[in-house]
Amino acid sequence: MMSASTAESSLQPLVQLLGYARYVFGGLLVITAILLAWQHYGMEKVVELSGDHFPVYVEDDRSGGGASVGSLERRGQDLIVHCHISRKNEWPFCKLGFDFLKGANGLDMSRFDYMTIEGRYTGPGTSRFGLVLAEAEDGLTRLDQWQTYKINQIDALDLPPAGGTLVVPFKWFGVAQWWKDMAKPTLEHAAVNVDNVVRAEMMISGGGKEGEHVFTLHAMRLHGKLISRDAMLLGLVAAWVLCAVGWLAILTLSLRSQLRDSRAAVALLRTVNKALELEARDLAGQAHIDPLTGVLNRQGLRAALMSTSSLLADPMAVIFIDIDHFKSINDTHGHDAGDDVLRKFANVIASGIRSSDRLVRWGGEEFLIVCPMTNVYQGRILAENLRHALHQQTWPAGVQVTASFGVAQHHERDEVGVVIKYADEELYRAKQSGRDRVCAHIPADMIANAEAA
Ligand code: GH3
Ligand code: MG
Ligand code: MG
Repeated sequence: MMSASTAESSLQPLVQLLGYARYVFGGLLVITAILLAWQHYGMEKVVELSGDHFPVYVEDDRSGGGASVGSLERRGQDLIVHCHISRKNEWPFCKLGFDFLKGANGLDMSRFDYMTIEGRYTGPGTSRFGLVLAEAEDGLTRLDQWQTYKINQIDALDLPPAGGTLVVPFKWFGVAQWWKDMAKPTLEHAAVNVDNVVRAEMMISGGGKEGEHVFTLHAMRLHGKLISRDAMLLGLVAAWVLCAVGWLAILTLSLRSQLRDSRAAVALLRTVNKALELEARDLAGQAHIDPLTGVLNRQGLRAALMSTSSLLADPMAVIFIDIDHFKSINDTHGHDAGDDVLRKFANVIASGIRSSDRLVRWGGEEFLIVCPMTNVYQGRILAENLRHALHQQTWPAGVQVTASFGVAQHHERDEVGVVIKYADEELYRAKQSGRDRVCAHIPADMIANAEAA
């Protein structure tokens, strides 16, 4: 069985953990709020698409039969496109391109929300330009066939008139219609996709005006979040679920442990209770037994009379016994020898009566026998038998032991005390008439009845 202290020690860490739960959930709440606010207002991830990191090129419409001439000048970070537009072609252009292809892979822009383009235009036309993100798509694109690159594009963007930063959300991109007409992609390849961009190109046409157009690109950047909103929410939900599950697990363990402990405590109490009950019964028993002879004492008789109604069943005889000249045994052989005689005396009497009879040490060297279902005559015979039995014994210290007996019969109308008194009177008579004998109280009506019979 688990002791109380072990139970306490096994429960304590769990209770402590449950106590910490409020801090854990409080902390989690604060962290959730901070992370959500941070994700929304900050957590910026910016990637610079500069000419230092990627190969840059300028092309013009001459390859398509036009006469526009584009050239690239680098000035510090700035990429300057000098574009002489000629209207020889219907759609004249110069283009500034970035090549992102490294090995077989381009740039994954799908985790970004928008681009910023910082630049300036000078020239006779407008600052309008087109922006193309060429995507190499799995299952569609062959790197050596330019027609298979998916063309995500925005037709018309305008730089701020005095130069500045243009914000371009990715959702503004669409798949170029001319490319769809040409490549005829299946439905799954028809939508915008920027997870493997191999080229970015700015199509500069100066609004189609002939003349010298200068397009200066200070910087092009990709903007996104370090952790996307969806990933953040998923992570937070996972953290909450994990904490809740942990808390429930600890709570279950703690309740189970408490239950086990209370069961152990109940079992312990039950055992203690049983032990106490036995001890009490033992003490009560001892209170009813004479310690010297092991027979009932007066309290024992009282208890027996109260608990065993059959003892009083009429006819009932009472035999009062007193050892003759016991004082002289003590005086001659010592008190211990006297005790031995008392023990043996009780033994002899006890083995001469029925199990339904009760032998009581009344006090000193006086004994009482209660005999249910026994009339005075039968009682007298029993007393005579006992008296003879005493004669037959060998006694401690070689003494001779005899006793005097008084017998009386209980009458229904009388208290038990009355029959004892009669037996005591008969005992006195036996002593008076010479000891070592039996005297019985036979009421007059019993004698008359006997004579009539
Ligand atoms: P009688 O024949 O008149 O009964 O003479 P008696 O000597 O037996 O009478 P009495 O009542 O005067 O003596 C009883 C003695 O029993 C007195 C007492 O010292 C002794 N006695 C009482 N209880 C005990 C006991 O527990 N042990 C011993 N050894 N002696 C006891
Ligand atoms: Mg006496
Ligand atoms: Mg005596």
